[in-house]
Order: sequence, then structure tokens, then C-alpha cells
Amino acid sequence: MYVNARNDGLGYEPRGENGWRQGVRFGLGHYPGEVRRGPDGRVYEWTERVDGLGNIDGFWSDLTDRAKKVWRGLIETLRKNVANGVLSNPNITLATTHVSGNVDNANARQNIDDTSKGTDASRSSYGTAPGGTVKLDLQMLVALLKLADTYKFSVSELAGGEHAKGSRHYNGVTVDVNIINGKRVGSTHPDIANFMQECRSLGATQVLGPGNPGHDTHVHCAWP
Ligand SMILES: [Zn+2]
Repeated sequence: MYVNARNDGLGYEPRGENGWRQGVRFGLGHYPGEVRRGPDGRVYEWTERVDGLGNIDGFWSDLTDRAKKVWRGLIETLRKNVANGVLSNPNITLATTHVSGNVDNANARQNIDDTSKGTDASRSSYGTAPGGTVKLDLQMLVALLKLADTYKFSVSELAGGEHAKGSRHYNGVTVDVNIINGKRVGSTHPDIANFMQECRSLGATQVLGPGNPGHDTHVHCAWP
């Protein structure tokens, strides 16, 4: 039996007892679950397990990294669940074609459907659209659900479609809405001002609509 000190924080390098990253001594743990702050300021936990030959194998596991992994997993689960909620919300209609008439797998419904399955959303690749995929922003998805508490609306574009160069649509943080409470978006629509204000209240930092160049037919809300 032997105990082999390893530094899990940098990808599982064999280290030996006198090794801790660039040669800084950190030593062996005394018991599984022991927590120490490393010379790098991060928090590590002594972890032991038995390898295939029956040897006890001990190493310092980076708790910061582990916490980050757990957090990332939670965010991905949330993203899927909220997308599922958007998909099944009776007040939200998701376009299955682009305003341009182009047909691809980057329409609003497909973007949400993919996200609900844990898959990244596609961007369009016609015109100046960049193609590729992106994760839909969780804050934007939650905002869609929140907006649906008050409004019945249609989403015309998310990550797909063709927009201005550098558009925040391509980052997965933006929604275009072209029908609100059964009426097409336009300068005389009675609910536009309130809808746009609610987008801002829900954290959108770029809110455009009728009166803004290129936005006479839809409201555009982008999150940071
Ligand atoms: Zn837009």
C-alpha cells in the first residue's frame, strides 16, 4: 500500500510527497475530507480512493473547480427546464420560419426545442448571418416566461435569422417579438410601450421598437 500525493487542481499530475504545483510543499492529507487552503489561495480537499490494485490513492481536489462544475451543471439543467416551460407556455408562439422566408434549423421554435434538450441553438447561415451555434441566455428565457404572465406574444427570431453585423441575436441573448396580444407590432399598438418597459425591468439592456430604425414591425429585447 502507498499513498501518492497528486494535485487534482492542475489535471491530475503525479507529484510525490514533496510536490505542490511549482514545487511548493503542500504535503499529504491526514484524512479524507480534510480541507486546506493551498499556497495559491484556493481551497482543496484531501480525497482518497482505492485503485485497481488495491492501493490507496490520495490527492488534493480543487474545491473551487468542483463548485464551478456543480454550478455549471445546475445552470444547464435550469436552461433546459426553462426552455421546456417556454415551449409549452400557451401564451408564447414560436415562429417556425424566418421573417425573410428562409427555411433552416435556426427558427425560434427550433432554437427553444434544441435548448430544451440541452443542445445549443443554431444560428442561420444565409446572408450575413454567421452560422454556428450558441447557448440561449438563461436570463432571456426566464424573461420570456415572465412576459407570458402578462402578454400573449409571438417570437419571430432568437439566435437565427439575419440581423445587423455584430447583432446581439448572434450571442443568444436577444428576442424579437412581432405580435403582442393578437395584434402585429406597429407604432399604434396599444401595448408596445408597456411591453418594452417590462423587458427593461426584466434586465434587457437594449430595447428597440417602432420609431427605432429597422424596428417598426417588431420589438427587439437584448440582455447583457
Ligand atoms: Zn432583433
